[in-house]
Amino acid sequence: MDKKLVIANWKMNLPNKGIVHFLKSVIPETTNLQYVQPGICPPYLFIPQLFELLDNSSILLGAQNLHYEDNGAFTGEISAQLLKTYCSLVIIGHSERRRLFHETDEEISKKIQIATHFNLTPILCVGENITERKNNHSSKIVTSQLITGLSKINNSNNLIIAYEPLWAIGSGNAATPTDIELMIKVIRQVITKKFGEDTQNTVRIIYGGSVSEDNINKIITLPDMDGVLVGNASLDPLKYNNIVKNIETIIT
Ligand code: PEP
Repeated sequence: MDKKLVIANWKMNLPNKGIVHFLKSVIPETTNLQYVQPGICPPYLFIPQLFELLDNSSILLGAQNLHYEDNGAFTGEISAQLLKTYCSLVIIGHSERRRLFHETDEEISKKIQIATHFNLTPILCVGENITERKNNHSSKIVTSQLITGLSKINNSNNLIIAYEPLWAIGSGNAATPTDIELMIKVIRQVITKKFGEDTQNTVRIIYGGSVSEDNINKIITLPDMDGVLVGNASLDPLKYNNIVKNIETIIT
């Protein structure tokens, strides 16, 4: 069985007491885990520092975004080629990038393509906003984000899909297990249709949106649930550790 992913998305923040304090608390609690694969996606600036600090730890390092070109005149951007030196994961198409920076599904598909070309594992974020949910369009939106987002790759090796409903992110209210379970099924169907029946071991589906130490048990035990993407709670080492510990305890 694959370990459950617990990926911290620090966004444009650092843990309250700093990176070193965070790691002093988290590294000892994440060695020799049986059921959890931890990961951290810090702001770009801190990736090289974390790369050094995470040496010999079991924590994966990821970026929060990349550019879809190899290199060139793209001021302020970072390529897959540059990230590859340090990272194994990259978040692509996070709702904040779609909403605030107008990223399109087409651009996201190019990012997925370049990430896989450089052997970075993409975490493709999909999810509906509150209006789309109220209009019963959640499945349609997620399906369309997946179809276009994955349109430029033919191989499902090492792909992570994060279901992140916008209305749950940062709200303190996670989606219900019923909502998450339904969307996992939708995602798995789209993936199976595109890549064939055998995607259970190659495409992992995770959930993000107000995950906490209190709700993790109900989320992580859902069928076909491979882990979580954690924003706010990942800035506090104790909360992050408790999420990890709860999973280790509940999964057998
Ligand atoms: C996120 O934005 O990826 C996220 C999961 O945030 P939060 O946990 O704070 O809802």
